[in-house]
Amino acid sequence: MSEYSFFEDVLGYIDKSASYTTHPQGLIDQIKQCNSIFKMYFPIRLDNGEYKVIEAYRAQHSHHKTPVKGGIRYSRHVNEDEVKALAALMTFKCALLDVPFGGAKGGIKIRRAEYSKNEIEKITRRYAFELIKKDFIGPAVDVPAPDYGTGAQEMAWIADTYSAFHSDTINASACVTGKPLTMFGIHGRTEATGRGVFFGLREAVSYEDDMTKLGLTVGLEGKKVIVQGLGNVGFHSAKFLQEGGATIIGIAEYDGGIYDPEGLDIEEVAQHRRDTGSILNFKNSQKIETGTDLLEYECDILVPAALENQITEENAPRIKAKIIGEAANGPVSKNAEEILLKNGVMIIPDIYLNAGGVTVSYFEWLKNLSRMSFGKLEKRYDYLNNERLANAIESASGQKLSNSQRDAIIKGASEEDLVNSGLEEAMVNAYKEMRETAKKHNLFDMRTAAFILAINKISVSYLEQGIFP
Ligand code: GLU
Repeated sequence: MSEYSFFEDVLGYIDKSASYTTHPQGLIDQIKQCNSIFKMYFPIRLDNGEYKVIEAYRAQHSHHKTPVKGGIRYSRHVNEDEVKALAALMTFKCALLDVPFGGAKGGIKIRRAEYSKNEIEKITRRYAFELIKKDFIGPAVDVPAPDYGTGAQEMAWIADTYSAFHSDTINASACVTGKPLTMFGIHGRTEATGRGVFFGLREAVSYEDDMTKLGLTVGLEGKKVIVQGLGNVGFHSAKFLQEGGATIIGIAEYDGGIYDPEGLDIEEVAQHRRDTGSILNFKNSQKIETGTDLLEYECDILVPAALENQITEENAPRIKAKIIGEAANGPVSKNAEEILLKNGVMIIPDIYLNAGGVTVSYFEWLKNLSRMSFGKLEKRYDYLNNERLANAIESASGQKLSNSQRDAIIKGASEEDLVNSGLEEAMVNAYKEMRETAKKHNLFDMRTAAFILAINKISVSYLEQGIFP
């Protein structure tokens, strides 16, 4: 078996989807290329006084729209092939969701747990500095965000470093998204990817004919779900799915898994991990020695929310889930997908399902450019208008509204309400488009449908620019 290349898998998806379109081969070749790759090495001084050379990357896959956009991951598995593949997925994700960015991704090859907070800050700031030096970051150029192993704190350090070098740039804070709320972040960004996964899966299980084919009932209620990875995306996906009526029966982590057919309360599992350092030994749950074994358990929806290449041709034949919801990027390899599709497993692809993160990043970027919170202008106006409406209802009906009814009518939308509404709209619409494309081409394979749509949208940008007249 040849060595696995994540990037080759993504190119394979593009080729397969392109065969359903009539775009010239030159255009498809351009769409496939990873336009710029910046590989860097820089030293940092560790807390113990020793020096360590750090390997890092930023790949900009497509400049058909700028800025380019995508997270930065901290993981010991980071390599050029991975970063190129992830950058490419960002291109298609943004196109599919009508988020007007090209795709990019960064990575720092470190095992995070080996470094102190102080060392992580040094690494992050130095990485940001290297990006600045080569013009690989900026509100109009390339806008990073959190990914595996990073969060709001790293984004704050990056924004601060960038601002220090660009004190005359009015939009400096828009150089990165996923920042803390107190540092030009946006409500709802942390939960956004998981919330998007929930909206996407809720939409997927809402079509009676699709569910009948899978032997499932309509709706999330009672659906048995197994989640791999209880990081930010896995936790929030599981939480919103549970709130939406699904039962989380298994959670897999790197140190093992927990299983309870009666359901695991996700908030309680997270609390247990905060208390003990691990999800293992959670009350009443069965301990699974090897976390990945859980992927093969009977369930309705399997949500891999960790890293790529988790479902391979090796374990794919044993997967019993009816639906795989790709919350992670690239969790199912291309060879595995062929087996799963043959076995009738519906795959909701990453470029759609985890696009909630970048969608809300787009809102954050817009907020930074406008220098104002969403809803600030209209909130009071809406409130007063709604109050008049509530009064009119009362006088017309001759009945007093209850306090909760009145509150529900008059309260104007908060920034978080608006962000969540924009996210829901984006996820629901994209699913409908994807499903229609699948139907048009008589495809069960939703990934190909998603790529066809994305390729068509990217081609329009190239054609508009006159690059491929
Ligand atoms: N890292 C996330 C992703 O893979 C978010 C990227 C962003 O917000 O720019 O989609």
